[in-house]
Amino acid sequence: MSIKIGVIGAGMIGSDHALRIKDTLKGGVINGINDINKENSKRLSKELGGVKIFEDPHALINSSEVDAILVCSIGPTHEEFVLASIAAGKYVFCEKPLATSAVACKKIVDAEMKFGKRLVQVGFMRRYDSGYQKLKKAIESFEIGDVLMMHCAHRNSSVPESYVTEMAVSDSLVHELDAVRWLLKEDYVSAQMILAKKTKYSHEKLHDPQMLLLETVSGVRIDVEFFHNCQYGYDIQCEVVGSDGIMTLPEPESLVIRKGAKKFTNIDPDWKNRFIDAYDIELQEFLDGISSENIKGPSSWDGYAAAMASDVCIKAQKTGAIEPFSIVDIPDFYI
Ligand code: NAP
Repeated sequence: MSIKIGVIGAGMIGSDHALRIKDTLKGGVINGINDINKENSKRLSKELGGVKIFEDPHALINSSEVDAILVCSIGPTHEEFVLASIAAGKYVFCEKPLATSAVACKKIVDAEMKFGKRLVQVGFMRRYDSGYQKLKKAIESFEIGDVLMMHCAHRNSSVPESYVTEMAVSDSLVHELDAVRWLLKEDYVSAQMILAKKTKYSHEKLHDPQMLLLETVSGVRIDVEFFHNCQYGYDIQCEVVGSDGIMTLPEPESLVIRKGAKKFTNIDPDWKNRFIDAYDIELQEFLDGISSENIKGPSSWDGYAAAMASDVCIKAQKTGAIEPFSIVDIPDFYI
């Protein structure tokens, strides 16, 4: 029998996820939608063939017509909807960020532990990307010896005026903060943020580009360039430097074109396509986890760890200093 799902947030990613559950994945059916933006909920309902719209998100969460919730509304709403889902004993897939502060994420962790069973999966889809998985496997088998350094880049063609300096960390960099911690199986001890010379393509409230320098518990050093108006396309880079060699995240498959005295490959301008397979796999794993009553994907603790890192980076953005992390032991519940 299909798992009945309620979607909160019928914007860009909520619509994509709902449609992939309808058209691509197995074992789920969208049974209810809520969005503060009535146009979005109406449009998505129509695209799904007339799914019921709930005016109140809490009525949707508590409805007997849904077994699980997808939280795809804007970040500041996540804490409320994830906590309500846990209180209702419902499985919940929450898009990143789990919540907009570490304090809020800790409330979710505490509520889930009190409930006594994992209910929450966080949308850190890079963990499901085949290139990142190859890197992880190679790191774990010491293919290039001990990891010493990593060089990462997160570039977007452009972002709207609503995208401000802190969001570069909480909305974008949070993917690297999770992916690197997952790849290395290590927490961070310090972060320093460097604001580079500002591009003429940015706007008043976004300092762009920026650089982050991280250090992990064992002393691995990671630099991340994040550049949100790079103009040329969506481009994610990750190079791992080891004691015995270097590994690079595979580029997305693309034709090599020879034309007009040039040799080139295209770069997709849109972030949606870069991890499209990973989105499918993460949500299928969520559905399968519900069926087997064993949620295995990125946990509330991972969301909390990313939020702690994000908070330190935002502080470092303001101070320009090397900011320390507090080391917090992971509870057995999440191991
Ligand atoms: P979006 O297109 O703006 O959609 C969000 C929707 O939520 C909008 O329809 C918005 O309404 C609605 N909303 C706002 N407040 C609400 C509330 N209180 N209750 C119910 N609905 C509410 O945003 P998006 O790009 O889909 O992003 C949604 C979330 O997914 C964000 O947390 C974002 O960081 C995350 N995301 C993750 C990825 C990824 O790669 N994993 C990619 C994209 C987005 P209005 O239009 O009226 O604001």
